Amino acid sequence: GMKQRLLVVANRLPVSAVRRGEDSWSLEISAGGLVSALLGVKDVDAKWIGWAGVNVPDEVGQRALTRALAEKRCIPVFLDEEIVHQYYNGYCNNILWPLFHYLGLPQEDRLATTRSFQSQFDAYKRANQMFADVVSQHYQEGDVVWCHDYHLMFLPKCLKEYNSKMKVGWFLHTPFPSSEIHRTLPSRSELLRSVLAADLVGFHTYDYARHFVSACTRILGLEGTPEGVEDQGKLTRVAAFPIGIDSERFKRALDHPTVKERIKELKQRFEGRKVMLGVDRLDMIKGIPQKILAFEKFLEENPLWRDKVVLLQIAVPTRTDVPEYQKLTSQVHEIVGRINGRFGTLTAVPIHHLDRSLDFYGLCALYAVTDVALVTSLRDGMNLVSYEFVACQGEKKGVLILSEFAGAAQSLGAGALLVNPWNITEVAASICYALEMSSDEREKRHRHNYAHVTTHTAQDWAETFVSELNDTVVEAQLRT
Ligand code: UDP
Repeated sequence: GMKQRLLVVANRLPVSAVRRGEDSWSLEISAGGLVSALLGVKDVDAKWIGWAGVNVPDEVGQRALTRALAEKRCIPVFLDEEIVHQYYNGYCNNILWPLFHYLGLPQEDRLATTRSFQSQFDAYKRANQMFADVVSQHYQEGDVVWCHDYHLMFLPKCLKEYNSKMKVGWFLHTPFPSSEIHRTLPSRSELLRSVLAADLVGFHTYDYARHFVSACTRILGLEGTPEGVEDQGKLTRVAAFPIGIDSERFKRALDHPTVKERIKELKQRFEGRKVMLGVDRLDMIKGIPQKILAFEKFLEENPLWRDKVVLLQIAVPTRTDVPEYQKLTSQVHEIVGRINGRFGTLTAVPIHHLDRSLDFYGLCALYAVTDVALVTSLRDGMNLVSYEFVACQGEKKGVLILSEFAGAAQSLGAGALLVNPWNITEVAASICYALEMSSDEREKRHRHNYAHVTTHTAQDWAETFVSELNDTVVEAQLRT
């Protein structure tokens, strides 16, 4: 039959666009998890709507970019610099992101942020309306519209105002915090109400879904049911849809000659030492200082391990223009320097800390040679790095140490060693336990994780969400 049309709306299109001339652009598709997830969904014809990440003030440039993007099934939303500043840097990244991760407002400019709150929220709503305008230009009857993440919480309401019959889903990729946290947001009610305009609202875990329902019952006084939230007979379905990865892509990569070559090099380089690995954006939520302090404690308490283990920490720079992030960077550098000075020798250091990203093949090779992966997020929506590590461990069957505050702890809890990243003593003990674990226990734990990661893929996630959204709309029609 006819393929189901799907409009995926996210703040950023999965492309990087570079202007080559007045009317020419070069585009590179970023092959992240979400892209392969949605490309793999059966019988669905997906288009992306979002911001291309560049400021294009002139019409010639806008038309050329729109044409170039169309070939990649992408449709741009053009945001000017002022709105990007207020909506994206301001409301999304300075307010919603820290709040949803329990960090509170940035300490340095708390009052300034509080004062500019209303203008930033206004810009947020304006930006969401601009996304809605583009969706409405491309919407055809029967289309499923899937809105993504905290950038677009106002979008479901805008879309339903445009057309109340539109099938609208919204999915949050971050945690949704306890209602006591959400309650501090000046725009708490308006945001909840606009999300509730969607037919289906999805989260990574039951905890996040429960927090959202509690926020709606306590702040809005609505009724929470096992299905979702009810407002005067109208039900918004709320459920958990834990995301996964394209595990086949990682397995295939391990057979690639480039990856095999790099694995060989890495094995030689670290021969005789156990490899521990951290891969994170350099963000407050990832608990990188806590991780490194726990590793220091482990070295302190276990002198025999000192020249037999190395921690490789890939810290991908992010938001490098923001003072709080600059501070985190120098804090981490200071701790790493101290530990390497303390425990290093003329020929080896215990920590290799890199402020950079790796390409896909480089990352796969690292995952494959790792003995113990260390994920210590203080809060993390899901944490895909833990899934990717597991997918690459078919041979080594290494150990995953995983923060209980990452969404992944709900799905990989049986195979991983779960830790409270704030408890450095506990993490240090887990490092020791992981390094000395019997191969029986290691393989058993790996089997759990591997079975989960390879059977709960990104593609399944997308298929489940879209089909649940279709079902929800049918059920709602039957009720009325
Ligand atoms: N990643 C990457 N290059 C790097 C380090 C990480 O492409 O050098 C990717 C990694 O493969 C993963 C993503 O970045 O897919 C990080 O996702 P995660 O859910 O762990 O954390 P987020 O950065 O979204 O908070």
